Amino acid sequence: MKPSPYSSACIKRDGTSPGRGHNPEAGTGSAEQARLIPQALRGDATARARPKRRGTGKVAIKRASGQPTGRVQPRWRGTAPVRHRYGNGGRMCPRSERSKSLYRCGKNKGVMTTDAHATGITIDIPRYHDVWMDNELKTVEKDIFFQFTGNPFVDAGIWAICEWCKKERPEDLDTDDLRMMIGDIVPLYLTPAWSKNLYSIFPNNPITNPSVEDKKGSMSKFLNDLLHEITPITNEGSGNCISCGRRIVKTVRTKTEIPLLGSGSLVNYFPNGQSGADYCPACTFAVQFSPLIFYSCRKLLLLHSNSVKVMRYWAKRAIQDIRRQMIERDYGGCFNENFKNPRNALFHIIQDIVLGYDERWSEENPSIILYHFTNYNQGPDLDLYYLPTQVFRFLTYVRQHERYHQWIQIVRRGYINVDLNKVKEEGDYRDKMNVVYNNLLTGESIVKFFIDHEGRKVLGNWDLLSYYLKEVRNMEAKRLETIKRVGDELADYIKETENLKRLTQLEQARNYGTLRNILRFIITDRIRKCADKPLFSLDEYVEDLFPDGYMNWKETQDLLLFRIYETLHTWLVEQERSGLELIEESSTEEITVEE
Ligand SMILES: [Zn+2]
Repeated sequence: MKPSPYSSACIKRDGTSPGRGHNPEAGTGSAEQARLIPQALRGDATARARPKRRGTGKVAIKRASGQPTGRVQPRWRGTAPVRHRYGNGGRMCPRSERSKSLYRCGKNKGVMTTDAHATGITIDIPRYHDVWMDNELKTVEKDIFFQFTGNPFVDAGIWAICEWCKKERPEDLDTDDLRMMIGDIVPLYLTPAWSKNLYSIFPNNPITNPSVEDKKGSMSKFLNDLLHEITPITNEGSGNCISCGRRIVKTVRTKTEIPLLGSGSLVNYFPNGQSGADYCPACTFAVQFSPLIFYSCRKLLLLHSNSVKVMRYWAKRAIQDIRRQMIERDYGGCFNENFKNPRNALFHIIQDIVLGYDERWSEENPSIILYHFTNYNQGPDLDLYYLPTQVFRFLTYVRQHERYHQWIQIVRRGYINVDLNKVKEEGDYRDKMNVVYNNLLTGESIVKFFIDHEGRKVLGNWDLLSYYLKEVRNMEAKRLETIKRVGDELADYIKETENLKRLTQLEQARNYGTLRNILRFIITDRIRKCADKPLFSLDEYVEDLFPDGYMNWKETQDLLLFRIYETLHTWLVEQERSGLELIEESSTEEITVEE
């Protein structure tokens, strides 16, 4: 094979030829050499080695016959080997020469690339791996109809469509998929259970409007009309759709098509006093399928996250349930596990995803929002629940912790007004308010649930608790270390002196002043007994034990007791069994002195 002159061309950074000798086959004249240099790499500062794009944002490829064969989506890489771009002169690309197939770039100046490296040049240009497959151009023309928008209802619809059509990305969806959705889902929506759900999602749409007789025909026509209006996304294109911002809106939408919008008569609700919101046909079309991944919880739950993994697994679970309904012909409406409490349902959903799918969840930093809503005509409503990223990371850590079974107990202790000794199964109490879940969502401490004061024992261990404190409560490592050390010293002191009175006093302290006095007495005792080191320094007291003064003193008390119980629990049980009368019955008058 005759070596291509292009493959040996050596181009300087400024795009000029290095001159004679670098490319013996290219002749000696600079004009000749310049002719051989791809246009994109010449001195023209504006000529970048990047193929021009047409309106659709994809690159058109043509066969030598001139018939378009397809469009391929470029895969952009950070730094690619130097590749030459060819003009529309119809030259044979070195790569095609190698593959014995001739492709021309066509009028769009092409995508023909070569592996030739030009010395010293690094240009950020795309690779088109999909163009050559077994020396044939196998990719077909592909328009992009959907991309995620950030709008929870639209994104939910896109995820539902992707999962139903088994497509990895929204960019992979084509018109056949969208047609299939209409054919598959309209009959599902017409089942009694789904129709009932739709009253809370799309009031007065063709299915829920009682005056519509041919519901199937009307709904199919509505969706097909939307489908016909959907145009591919263009790179250059911008529009006034408030969801995607990529398309021009001709028809405004109301709560009949998009949940939680106002009705058309509420012109004050919408910008510009118009009688609806600007949603393009594609976004409106996607929203019609969002119910497929809603979750029944009295009202409806919509999970929205920036994490592809979270959303994909969630959509997978919901769609699996629908496929089950279809197979068993047991239609129950939106995914329903009989949860009534949205906060508890949120944790149930997240733990289900984290436990059910083996991923590196600890590396995932998702932002998760739960929308608890109804779009019912008489009283639309919306509540938002935000799951902090740190809490998600903590939940993934707990899942693989050796004390996971004790975390389950910690959560159970969070249910209010539940006698855990009497309940038989989880269904008896799982819809009650759970303070552990509530506090995790609101950023309040759950330390007290790690401690069983009555049994003087702990649930979990210091490792689990300190991870929670560090990740969720943002406690500094130095503070944690000091609390742990002081807790250990206190445990040693109680055990060595067999002075359970001090432990009782520590447990019963009801305010900051009392706790401080007890610590002072212990310090005095230790000095009398000639302890090697002080219990803590002034800096540790101010910065680590009580950094906020009387604020949050209770948390410090709990953490010290946690460490004491964790260290002394076995010893304490032994003392109780042996019936040893320790110095426990002493009076507490000496700690009543408070400021
Ligand atoms: Zn849109």
